[in-house]
Amino acid sequence: MEFSQEFKDKCNVGNHDLIEIQASRHSWDESYKVVKWCKICGAVVIDLEYDGRINPGQIMKMKYPKQIYK
Ligand SMILES: [Zn+2]
Repeated sequence: MEFSQEFKDKCNVGNHDLIEIQASRHSWDESYKVVKWCKICGAVVIDLEYDGRINPGQIMKMKYPKQIYK
């Protein structure tokens, strides 16, 4: 699927259109591990959410398709 340059420009400035694809709660505390994927550029990031706060890239820094499919 091709996206318009408008969407790609958003990704270029870090404003990804992230969708949540998986969330798992740790049993030992109340934190959530949330896997998000940008449907435009294919970047993935795993965030750690704790007590309603999000720590972007806490578990895994955002990876882009070039890094993923090396
Ligand atoms: Zn993106």
